[in-house]
Amino acid sequence: MDEDSFRAWAHRAADWSVDYLAGVAERPVRAQVGPGEVFRQIPAAPPAAGEPMEAIFADLDRLILPGMTHWQHPRFFAYFPANASPPSVVAEFVTAALAAQCMLWQTSPAATELESRVTDWLRDMIGLGPDFAGVIQDSASGATLAALLTARERALAFAGNREGLAGQRPVRVYASAQVHSSIDKAVRIAGIGDANLVRIPVTGPLFGMDPAALDAAIRADQAAGLLPAAVVACLGGTSIGACDPLEAVAAVAARHGVYLHVDAAWAGSAMICPEFRDLMRGAEQADSLVFNPHKWLFTHFDCSAHFVKDPRALTDTLGLRPPFLRTLEREGVVDYNEWSIPLGRRFRALKLWFVIRSYGVEGLRDMIRRHVAWARALAERVAAHPDFELVTGPILSLFTFRYAPAGAGDLDALNERLVARINDDGRTYLTQTRHDGRFVIRFQIGQTTTTWRDVEIAWEAVQEVAASLAPTRAGSEDGAGRRDPA
Ligand SMILES: *Cc1c(COP(=O)(O)O)cnc(C)c1O
Repeated sequence: MDEDSFRAWAHRAADWSVDYLAGVAERPVRAQVGPGEVFRQIPAAPPAAGEPMEAIFADLDRLILPGMTHWQHPRFFAYFPANASPPSVVAEFVTAALAAQCMLWQTSPAATELESRVTDWLRDMIGLGPDFAGVIQDSASGATLAALLTARERALAFAGNREGLAGQRPVRVYASAQVHSSIDKAVRIAGIGDANLVRIPVTGPLFGMDPAALDAAIRADQAAGLLPAAVVACLGGTSIGACDPLEAVAAVAARHGVYLHVDAAWAGSAMICPEFRDLMRGAEQADSLVFNPHKWLFTHFDCSAHFVKDPRALTDTLGLRPPFLRTLEREGVVDYNEWSIPLGRRFRALKLWFVIRSYGVEGLRDMIRRHVAWARALAERVAAHPDFELVTGPILSLFTFRYAPAGAGDLDALNERLVARINDDGRTYLTQTRHDGRFVIRFQIGQTTTTWRDVEIAWEAVQEVAASLAPTRAGSEDGAGRRDPA
């Protein structure tokens, strides 16, 4: 592609992007294709000769768009958001043009030094305190793996890295059942093993781990000759937004010299609003914390902010300096690859810099505050509806509910059908979880362009689809009696 046609196609792509986002609200939120439908339309063999861009671009609209779930749709209320914003799109375009591999300071000093600066900004924005240093990881999963490897090696005095885990005392990790599956995965990858992930029971309205039970579990393990290494606490669990009592958990971890990692992947972005920071009290006592600007801070995937109190412990765990990676005659520079699992690194700081500067901290706060206020307002409506039940109240912008009309039989099956029908309907997109053994529907608000009207439309869609389900009025089992119109 020559320069002139690159310019023309770059402009086409820009126009396409603006038009796509302007019209995305008209599309069904979740892709309406079946398995294999897209695959079958893509030729089995690549073209031997180059094809015209016009043809490639036409196929984008024809083949790809119908198979997309629209994450930037204003009525995307499923999972957690992966929101973005125009300044972030622009920065990603520029990043793509630079196409720099930012593994070492030397391979792009500006990328490294901007990363140091914007992670300091983020740290200060969430009120974490200057004794933390930040790095941008590809994912919260990657950050948590790095944290657990660090904790493992700290507990083993680096014998794991030197000798392997065979013959070492079993390393123990503690977390509630509300933590994300990335903790389970990191425990496996780190060679710690499922059997050494100790589940601590939760209590209270925020479903946080019981610090006394944590303390007892650590003491029991010490007495049994096992090696307590890390506590992973959650600030905004994925299922229903559970928050561990960080202050009390940190006190237990400190008492036993155990590493504390806080997974705030989703909720961390909301900590830029001081009024929500009650939830993170005690986080400053942690050894590390991760949150995802790529979830709720209007910045493209991938962008996970990982903060550590002792970068040396992290780089001693992960940093390797083979001769071909040495930066000659440069002391005092940061080589961020030593802070991460992969060697290669995208220039992720640029989009954060664009987003934070473009909105300003107050602009970002305004958007998050609206999401939280709307979630609270909608949760009230759900709770007030005679045929619906609010199962867990809003923690920030996430709550769960279920359809429980009088006389309905199997509520799990009914709600499973309801979620499927809502997503076939296309006006909104919701997903489910299990809470206390029950099938419940999650509702979270976090999209950049969502308005209160979008929230209302989604709630209207839920009520309409629910009413059309015609539940079997069996009058049996768990539905009976509980919602009798007295
Ligand atoms: C989304 C999520 C993760 C995983 O995030 P990735 O960046 O996709 O790895 C981890 N923890 C929590 C609490 C999450 O919500």
